[in-house]
Amino acid sequence: MSEPIIHMFPCLTDNYGFLIHDPASGETACIDTPDADKILAEAKARNWRITQIWNTHWHPDHAGGNEKIKAETGCHITAPAGEVERIAIFDRTVSQGDTVRLGAIEVRVLDTPGHTGHIVYYIPSISTAFVGDTLFALGCGRLFEGTADQMWTSLSKLRGLPDDTTIYCAHEYTAANAAFALSVDPDNAALIDYAEDVKQKRSRNVPTVPTTIAKEKAANPFLRADILPFQKAMGHAGDAVATFAEVRKRKDNF
Ligand code: ZN
Ligand code: FE
Repeated sequence: MSEPIIHMFPCLTDNYGFLIHDPASGETACIDTPDADKILAEAKARNWRITQIWNTHWHPDHAGGNEKIKAETGCHITAPAGEVERIAIFDRTVSQGDTVRLGAIEVRVLDTPGHTGHIVYYIPSISTAFVGDTLFALGCGRLFEGTADQMWTSLSKLRGLPDDTTIYCAHEYTAANAAFALSVDPDNAALIDYAEDVKQKRSRNVPTVPTTIAKEKAANPFLRADILPFQKAMGHAGDAVATFAEVRKRKDNF
């Protein structure tokens, strides 16, 4: 079976748009719809017809293009079950344990509440996850509609994916995230190397997305809230949720 092709491109100010195309079935899905015109043009340039939309959450920079893309393509929209009242339009809702298909490719849905009633699309056969605004390279989403406890659980779930999992985050926030991460974990050698790489890439306008679970485990302070020396540095030895909440609060005020 030929592997699906993933195409990533910038949208709006700092979002990324994603198309995944399965040559075997001819199906193409877009993950979130930050900019309908841009997404339709990117698909057209590749001669791909968008057959599905997979929404991670309801925010307008993720679902705002649903209506236009559906009107132009007739595609099928999959949306998080927890957000039926807020998401623009959809055909099917999904939650933890549900499966979505792109041709013969199986996609697993993970519930990751915290930012909103957010979900993640995980494709085991290609070790890839589309994580929206839950996990960012060196960061995580803000707690708009959830608690620190929920977000820590969601991030722990993603951290439990295989180390080589490719992680597509929905925003290019990494340079700012790196500056913050260094402020709370200044002696972390993996983070220092990562931050240097981010600096090099951004100076050449190269994306820092995708990342991997292995890289984030080693350097992302939001995934390190259960590591004792880091808990001590944050003033909450023995308490992962309190440590996570402290890091999130510091980032909100950074
Ligand atoms: Zn969002
Ligand atoms: Fe967003």
